[in-house]
Amino acid sequence: MNERVLRGRVLSFRRRPEGGGDLAALDWFDDGAVHVRDGHIVATGDFARVAPPGVPVSDHRPHLITAGFIDAHIHFPQGQVVASWGAQLLDWLNAYTFPAETRFADSGHARAMAVAFYDLLLRHGTTTAAAFCSVHPASVDAYFAEAEARGMRMLGGKVLMDRNAPEALCDTPQTAYDDSAALIARWHGRGRALYAISPRFAITSTPGQMAAAQALVAAHPDCHVQTHLSENRDEIALACALYPQAAGYLDIYDRHGLLGPRALLGHAIHLTEAERDRIADSGSHAVHCPTSNLFLGSGLFDESALAARGATSGIATDIGAGMSWSMLRTGGAAYAIAQLQGRSLDPLTAFWGITRGNAEVLGLADRIGTLEPGTEADLVVLDSRATPELALRMAAAQDLKDELFALLILGDDRSVVETWVAGRPVRPR
Ligand SMILES: [Zn+2]
Repeated sequence: MNERVLRGRVLSFRRRPEGGGDLAALDWFDDGAVHVRDGHIVATGDFARVAPPGVPVSDHRPHLITAGFIDAHIHFPQGQVVASWGAQLLDWLNAYTFPAETRFADSGHARAMAVAFYDLLLRHGTTTAAAFCSVHPASVDAYFAEAEARGMRMLGGKVLMDRNAPEALCDTPQTAYDDSAALIARWHGRGRALYAISPRFAITSTPGQMAAAQALVAAHPDCHVQTHLSENRDEIALACALYPQAAGYLDIYDRHGLLGPRALLGHAIHLTEAERDRIADSGSHAVHCPTSNLFLGSGLFDESALAARGATSGIATDIGAGMSWSMLRTGGAAYAIAQLQGRSLDPLTAFWGITRGNAEVLGLADRIGTLEPGTEADLVVLDSRATPELALRMAAAQDLKDELFALLILGDDRSVVETWVAGRPVRPR
């Protein structure tokens, strides 16, 4: 039996905060404890009440203990694409991304990259992510095998792409179906792995392949679906030209049965009112990738317009177009993007977004994203004074809200003291 108590300042969210003053949305224990046993959380609360005698204590006072971060959209094969200069979406894919993904045909390369990928996620306190792998089934095997070795709850899948890409990265409708079905059989629900059916985007899938994706979703309704939507105006024009019968970009996916509560629509920046309504009505989720949208100059995601319709959006790094692996930095960038639209994202809501909010988007809030008893013990321990600039700011901080905002704007992997996966510390600083 593996049993531990983590002691520190403990924070977990019960629901989405209604503004920055909504402290009722969170559980907060100034001298708190999280009791973990065999990969799950047994109890969370005041240390004096929760810590049973005789169980070893990891004393992290005065650090902050919260649920591990969740990244709702990332590209496993793009760790070496980060910081590639000077292009917008379609040119960037051709110049940098596709050549990098071609190398994942080599399973040895894919395995080496998986080690680096998970090292970086855990270093940044990210314990779950939804990732696009490359077109090659071997990339998916490398991705899930390394996650399994580390005990991590990860979502992912092979990208489907059969046109507008180099020959070496193209499958066919039939191989897309067969390879995905075999990968689902091999990985979906094995340990903590969850499969996501992953048509890259409408531009790289023929109607025949989109039909294959539709058949996969129909045959595996408990798998997630992830794709890209309305990131860039040239992309939208090309997608609509390739599917002239569709009413718009979102409708391409809609008419192929890809929308629903398990659908993750990366970017979703340039939407019509009707598209926002349809995302909300179908229960689908847009995923905001703020540093990527700035890096590629794609545009400003309007989270409030979707929230007003009752749609919950995710937030993500979108590595390799993203500029940081840190979900803290990503939350800070979401703040800046909201500011450009005349809104101020409050720190409680931003912190909820990178933990419980993303768990809700993934339909996994009963398993990850909080410190509630019975959930999986994925946690992060944060030092709000980890750097000189954080320490200087924190000396003037008034309350928890100030502290969380300082972490979102100034924090990154240097603030991560320890990351815990399934009840074990895996990344001591
Ligand atoms: Zn992406």
